[in-house]
Amino acid sequence: MQEQESASAAAITLDPRDIVLILGPPGSGKGTQSKRLALDLGTEVRSTGDLLRQEADPRLMEIMASGALVPEEEIQRILAEALKHLEGRPLILDGATRKPQEAEWLLGLLPTIGRRLLAVIVLKLEEEAGRDRIARGNRDRQDDHPECQDERWREFRDHTLQSIAIYDRVGLLEEINGNQDTDKVYRDVLAALHKRAGGR
Ligand code: AMP
Repeated sequence: MQEQESASAAAITLDPRDIVLILGPPGSGKGTQSKRLALDLGTEVRSTGDLLRQEADPRLMEIMASGALVPEEEIQRILAEALKHLEGRPLILDGATRKPQEAEWLLGLLPTIGRRLLAVIVLKLEEEAGRDRIARGNRDRQDDHPECQDERWREFRDHTLQSIAIYDRVGLLEEINGNQDTDKVYRDVLAALHKRAGGR
């Protein structure tokens, strides 16, 4: 335990093939943790939500504004592009697979392109706490409105939990209590990664 608590980013060595996937419900802090991790590990980070917003395709923006998940073919397309572009560099993926089909697809694809998933980190948070955080936050996002959040949580329960179960079955899952202050969550994220990639 002592060793886990003292894990630091400097003690984690990512291999150029490594991908770390960060998942969690709305308000769990995926974006914050992913960016901080990428900065400290000196690696790239990609969020499928951000990539979709950058594309600004009106058809997909409409789906996103409702809180629903976009079709998996779109996620497969943007992830395949990002992976091609970032070949040979480790990568943090934020929110990148939220349906079981997407998880199966990623697990099938990675070995064929010389990549591997190092860990899937899930930031666990109860719905009430997640909603409360979003209500207190100051993001200007249409899908943060309460009625869209109903849909986002439904999607999380109906689809994303199933995709997380897939990663659990193949031994990649690292669950972290997301209902702690940001620094403590981050220390737990580092400890989980250190366990898998420390000192190699
Ligand atoms: P985020 O910025 O991570 O909250 O994502 C915003 C929205 O983008 C989500 O509510 C979905 O509509 C869409 N999205 C992002 N990632 C995925 C994914 N892996 N699968 C399906 N839809 C996604």
